[in-house]
Amino acid sequence: MTDSAQIVRVNLGPRSYDIEIDAGNLAAAGRFVADRARADHAVLITDEHVEKPHAVAVAESLAESLSRIDLLVIEPGEPAKSIETAAALWERLLQLGTDRQSLVVAVGGGVVGDLAGFVAATFARGLRFVQVPTTLLAQVDSSVGGKVGINLPDAKNMVGAFLQPLGVLVDTTTLQTLAGREYLAGLGEVVKYGVILDAEFFAYLESHVAELLARGHEALVHVIARCCRLKGDVVQQDEREETGLRAVLNYGHTFAHAFEALAGYGTLLHGEAVAMGMSCASRLAERLGLVDSRFTARQCKLLSALGLPVEPPPLEPDLVLRLMAHDKKVEHGHLRFVLPARMGHCELVEAVNSDELREVLR
Ligand code: NAD
Repeated sequence: MTDSAQIVRVNLGPRSYDIEIDAGNLAAAGRFVADRARADHAVLITDEHVEKPHAVAVAESLAESLSRIDLLVIEPGEPAKSIETAAALWERLLQLGTDRQSLVVAVGGGVVGDLAGFVAATFARGLRFVQVPTTLLAQVDSSVGGKVGINLPDAKNMVGAFLQPLGVLVDTTTLQTLAGREYLAGLGEVVKYGVILDAEFFAYLESHVAELLARGHEALVHVIARCCRLKGDVVQQDEREETGLRAVLNYGHTFAHAFEALAGYGTLLHGEAVAMGMSCASRLAERLGLVDSRFTARQCKLLSALGLPVEPPPLEPDLVLRLMAHDKKVEHGHLRFVLPARMGHCELVEAVNSDELREVLR
């Protein structure tokens, strides 16, 4: 490990695990896994974009301590998070003689992590699972917290499970091969953590824009570790999203899901939609007297500096409202929103008036 490496522990009793964040540590994946699991056989699941630059290196390192490694490569992109791909992977696992002594290792973005985790959670009633996230979004969000799953044709993430990984190995150098737009979209989620949970972290982001845009190692290790700590703290208190606390992580998401769906899936990246959604949520908070216009301006300034969009797409407000009403975050027919109350602090607001929402979307 390098001097700047960080380890974030997620404390969940017998399901506790470490997130190791460093540069160049993919090459030590074998050591990371051997420290956490006795196994002879691992199935690595990755996608075509990640296979050559990163997954092969993970497989080579694992081969130092495991006698058998199988590498399964899926097509990249959200459509792979489907029952068809899951079924094909279950079949392959069966052919490969996978059993409960085997280990599943996901090497890729959120799609690979969610899908591989779902396959691990369901095959043979549950296999052990390690995450090696390779997008910024996966490193700060999807690989932490144990939510795994697939999409139904009309409902994202509708079928899934909770499966905490044995460990999460984050190598910041994997981000060097990530497309610019994907990288920036991940920064949208990073900003979200500052707004909802950590004012000091928000200020850190404001003063490190250039380093972040340059994908600097030190800034990235700090930022990823802080986001994982913040998400880990929430997950520790509300592992299965039962108390409502975990809902704070959905800041901007009620708007974002509607924007993504209306723009046509794949048009807007999730993190881009979240940036737009956070701007709308902040304007809504302003209208409800929770924050002032300087708050919204400050948030927009940082998002824009990081190359993220802050204006909602030109959509008919009533269409957006209708879609938001179908979102999972609707409780008893009322739209619920996570809204900022001051920097680093947010509140769950129930039953927001539709006219206020229309104004925000205009
Ligand atoms: P993704 O997995 O589709 O990855 C984005 C693109 O980058 C893909 O084309 C992928 O092949 C490519 N890629 C990945 N790593 C790369 C690398 N290092 N170099 C080059 N290319 C690389 O998308 P994502 O944004 O990582 O994840 C989105 C998914 O995550 C969604 O399905 C979403 O529902 C899910 N998600 C889950 C959680 C959770 O808690 N489980 C949280 C947030 C999001």
